[in-house]
Amino acid sequence: MKFGFDAGLEEFRKEVRAFFREEMAPARVEGHADALDLTGFDEAFERALLRRCGERGYLGLCVPEQYGGAARPPRFKAVFDFEAAYADAPAIDTPITLVGSQMLTYGTDPQKEFFLPRMVRGEGLMCIAYTEPEAGSDLSGIKSTARREGDGFVLDGVKSLVTAAHKSDHACVVVRTDQDAAPRRGMSMFLLSLDTPGVRVIRRATANRWTLGELHFDGARLPKDALLGEWNRGWSQMAAALLSEQSGMAHLGWATRNLERLDSLCRDARHIVTPKAVVRQRVAQLHCDLDVGVRFAKRVMFQQDRGELEAAAASMTKVYATELLQRIAQVASELLGPFGSLREGSEWAPLGGHFAYDVIERIHPTVSIGANEIRRNSIAQLGLGLPRNS
Ligand SMILES: Cc1cc2nc3c(=O)[nH]c(=O)nc-3n(C[C@H](O)[C@H](O)[C@H](O)COP(=O)(O)OP(=O)(O)OC[C@H]3O[C@@H](n4cnc5c(N)ncnc54)[C@H](O)[C@@H]3O)c2cc1C
Repeated sequence: MKFGFDAGLEEFRKEVRAFFREEMAPARVEGHADALDLTGFDEAFERALLRRCGERGYLGLCVPEQYGGAARPPRFKAVFDFEAAYADAPAIDTPITLVGSQMLTYGTDPQKEFFLPRMVRGEGLMCIAYTEPEAGSDLSGIKSTARREGDGFVLDGVKSLVTAAHKSDHACVVVRTDQDAAPRRGMSMFLLSLDTPGVRVIRRATANRWTLGELHFDGARLPKDALLGEWNRGWSQMAAALLSEQSGMAHLGWATRNLERLDSLCRDARHIVTPKAVVRQRVAQLHCDLDVGVRFAKRVMFQQDRGELEAAAASMTKVYATELLQRIAQVASELLGPFGSLREGSEWAPLGGHFAYDVIERIHPTVSIGANEIRRNSIAQLGLGLPRNS
């Protein structure tokens, strides 16, 4: 993948690739597989890797120096995410990625001083819990509540589909704090410790066996300083946080690596049952598509660096990169014919059943972080000025 950026960024990319090559070497990862975790690795491995990323300064790339960061432009973080995904390393959904922007923008000084240096050092795991059983794409339907009591708050309700809930130390949640306000106005954001009495985490299996979490709050008491940002301003804080997860570079990292895997299967040809002329057409098209995806991502990275990110451009990248990732898995499984559906454990499964797993796995990125249909609405409405209603 050619970024065409300055030499400093390319040098950084090479450095990160070398780092992950060493960290993810077969001897290092051996014994740490965990099929029940989205990352494919156990918690101990992930926590140790994050600490090492922290030691190298990779987690605070765009964080101000006063909190231990390197204060670099966002493109450095985008390149780090690309390389972490390329290496299949559990270093993408880090606390700084998930909660850092909310903390930097809305946190009080004591909150920032406590949490940001820890995030930068790679200490602790976090999750974000916005979704509820009746509120996914339309988060204005959030029903969980927090009410003021004494010096703090009391939390009730259920959050669903939460990535990494089972292993996280803290969760960032958005709940209703004013029942009488308009749906988008009466919510607030909280950062809570998951060992708070009254908080329960239940793991729910997905199609590929790994789990997402459900958080149950039954009269959970939170201290005063659990409020993150302003009372009743949770909706706009959440919208800003979702917008900050945008470059799509992690998806392109996985896409690049998977396309390399497919190329190698096609060169070897032992498992490819499709006529070679068809293989050439399908694989070449995927390379054209990847190149387009890279250009989309570069546009977003430039906009982020200038602090002028357009929501429609970010949505285009997300839609394009996640659907490309899905297309690569689908084409691979078609070209592999009957071999394409063999899973890990079969001696005939190419690459240990990688693409049979992936053809299911790559559905979910088109749903999470704003489902692609919602992103298309955003492109149409914000980018093209098409009507909002009906
Ligand atoms: C792997 C994974 C990880 C996740 N991790 C987290 C997490 O860490 N924290 C968290 O809070 N949430 C998380 N989610 C939840 C995710 O944000 C929601 O799944 C997503 O917002 C969609 O909500 P939903 O599943 O309720 O689907 P729904 O909102 O019910 O949508 C169902 C379908 O209808 C379409 N649709 C809905 N409304 C419209 C519309 N107006 N126009 C056109 N089409 C529409 C959607 O695009 C979708 O295809 C995760 C989800 C997945 C799959």
